[in-house]
This record gives sequence, structure tokens and C-alpha cells, in this order.
Amino acid sequence: MEQNSSFAQSASCLKQAVPFMVKYQIPLSPMNYAIWYCYVLGKEPDLNRKLEEILAQHGTCPPDQAKALFDEFLSEQDLALFHEMSDLVKGTLNNVEQEINNTLSCSEEFSAVLSECHVGLHQLKKQNTNAGPEIYNDVLNYVSKLTQESIVMQHNALCFQKKLEVAYSEIKQLQDTLTDAQEKASTDKLTGLLNRGKFDDDIIKFCDENNQLQKVLIFIDIDHFKQFNDEFGHQRGDDVLRKVAQKLQLHSDTEGQAYRYGGEEFCILISFSSISEAVGFSNRIREDIAKLSLKDKETGEVLKHITASFGIALFGKTMTWHSLVECADKALYLAKSHGRNRVEVAG
Ligand code: GH3
Ligand code: MG
Ligand code: MG
Repeated sequence: MEQNSSFAQSASCLKQAVPFMVKYQIPLSPMNYAIWYCYVLGKEPDLNRKLEEILAQHGTCPPDQAKALFDEFLSEQDLALFHEMSDLVKGTLNNVEQEINNTLSCSEEFSAVLSECHVGLHQLKKQNTNAGPEIYNDVLNYVSKLTQESIVMQHNALCFQKKLEVAYSEIKQLQDTLTDAQEKASTDKLTGLLNRGKFDDDIIKFCDENNQLQKVLIFIDIDHFKQFNDEFGHQRGDDVLRKVAQKLQLHSDTEGQAYRYGGEEFCILISFSSISEAVGFSNRIREDIAKLSLKDKETGEVLKHITASFGIALFGKTMTWHSLVECADKALYLAKSHGRNRVEVAG
């Protein structure tokens, strides 16, 4: 693919590509970015056609198909696009720096003229007592010189200000687009919690973190959730998901991080100084959820109480993040089979 070196063009392509990637839940990786950038440029009609077919079939572009598209139409060189974008931002900053230098040297010239005129006028003042009318010509010359220099200086300052404004808004827009896209890509639309993709990224970092505390993964699954859907409809089922998510967010806000793992399953990554603290924490959320219910919107009558089961897994030295997930899943299964609305810790 042909490389595009103009900042404005690249930024404009980026602004078009990123919303597509968010819409189809494509991770913002260099490879995907290169594919979508190429799609927006429209220079490889076959890539566009194939990508559209994949989207029609899957509603997204699965990683293996993305890799195949990349191998067919793009090259390693195209991965440099992300680096190119950062180079372009650096380029804009360099331009701004250059403008600052230009403005500084203009103001040095202005200062030199100012001090020359100051000395000149001071001399005239000393001669003032015995000078003739020609002295007024000299004064006028100095004033006119200062006026001209001030106009040049004002003009320079105005140009500088305009260039700064342009550079600022270009960088700000780019930053906002990326931040916005990253946030959207890692947020679950229905509940506002972080989504599964973000969890998959975070759990790896969480397990790698060096801290003295006990790292804990808690799985939470709403009890008999299917009945809410079956008895009151999918939308009321969604209301239940939002209510539970709100409680998880509230409780894990300061210490941990809550995610929607999928369907009616949630999880929390958090650290404690002891297992009993983790159990206490989970029980407090469980009791809070058990106070929730689905109510008739008109009469306020309780239609069905909401409860959830909790499975806790502690991260041990010999474990991987995979085995941590497996343990939490097993503990959750125990909580379900021991009667639901309870907390179990993986053995
Ligand atoms: P258990 O106590 O054993 O967990 O039973 P359950 O009914 O909660 O579990 P089950 O796995 O049988 O049903 C989960 C249901 O959640 C099935 C699926 O249709 C529904 N579901 C998944 N995602 C959503 C969603 O986003 N909105 C709604 N309303 N329902 C969803
Ligand atoms: Mg369930
Ligand atoms: Mg489930």
C-alpha cells in the first residue's frame, strides 16, 4: 500500500478508520489499523470487497481472517503507519518549536530597534535646549521606525498564534478520537462496565503485577437469570443486568475493577491482605444484590427477587492467568450446586 505522508490526510483517514473499527469491535492493533486505513483509502478494491463480505458474514472481522487479509494485501511496511502517526505528531510539535524560535528571533530584532530608538531619543532630549526645528524630524523618524516594527511584530505574533491554534486542534482531535475509540472498544454497551476484551488484557497485567497483597479473581453469575427473560421479556432481563452491574461498579470502584465477562456473568479483579477479606467483600456485594428486585414499572409490585452466586479464586505463585480463571469458574460452579446466592472459594 502506498504510504501517505501528509499529516492532515493521515489524520483524516484515521478519523474515518477508527469509528469503523469501534463499530465492528475490531481491536486497535497495528495490523487491524493498517487494514482499516487501507479500507478507508479505497486503493485496494479487492480488500474492501473481501472485508465487506467478512463483515456481512460475521458482523466483525475475526483475527484469523484479518491476518489473511493483511497477508494478501498488505506488508510489514504498513505496520509502520502507527509509528508514522506518532512521527507526524512529533513533526507538528517540531513546527511549533520552529515557530517559537522564529518569533523569538523577531522579538530580539524588535528589542534591538527599541533600544536603538531609546538611545537616539535620549540623545535628542539632551540636545533639546539648543536644538532647532529639525529635531522634530529626527523624533518623527524614530516614532515611524517604532510604528513599523510594532506592526511587523504584531503581524508575527498573530501568525504564530494562528499556527499554534491549528497545531493544538489537530493534536487534540487526534487524541480525542483515539481516547474515545479506546474507551468505546473496552466498554460493554449495555452495562457500562469494562468488557471481556478489556478483561482478557487486564488479567495478564494483573497476574504480572508485583504486589504484597493476595490477588483475587471473583466470578459472579446471576441466579436463574433465564427466568427473567422468559417471564418478563428480554428488555426487563437487560434491566436486571444493569442493576447488578451498578452494584458491582459501586463496590469495586476504589479497590478493584469490575467487568462484564459475558451474558449474565461478571467478574472482579481485586487484591486483599487475606482470604477472609475477599470473602467478606464478596458477601457484602452478594447481600446488596439480594436486596434488588425486578418491579412492575406501573404498580411498583415486586415481580422477582434478584440473587447472584460468587466464585473466588486466589492467585498462587505457580498459577497462570488461565488457571486462575479456571479456579474461579470451579468455585462458581460449587456456589451454584450448593444452592446459589452464596460465595465459594476455590480449594
Ligand atoms: P444459573 O442460575 O444456573 O446461572 O441459571 P441461568 O438461567 O442464570 O443461566 P443460563 O446460562 O441458563 O441462562 C443465561 C441466559 O442469559 C441465557 C441468555 O439468553 C441470557 N442472556 C445472555 N446475554 C443476555 C443479554 O445481554 N440480555 C438478556 N436479556 N439476556 C441475556
Ligand atoms: Mg446465571
Ligand atoms: Mg451463566
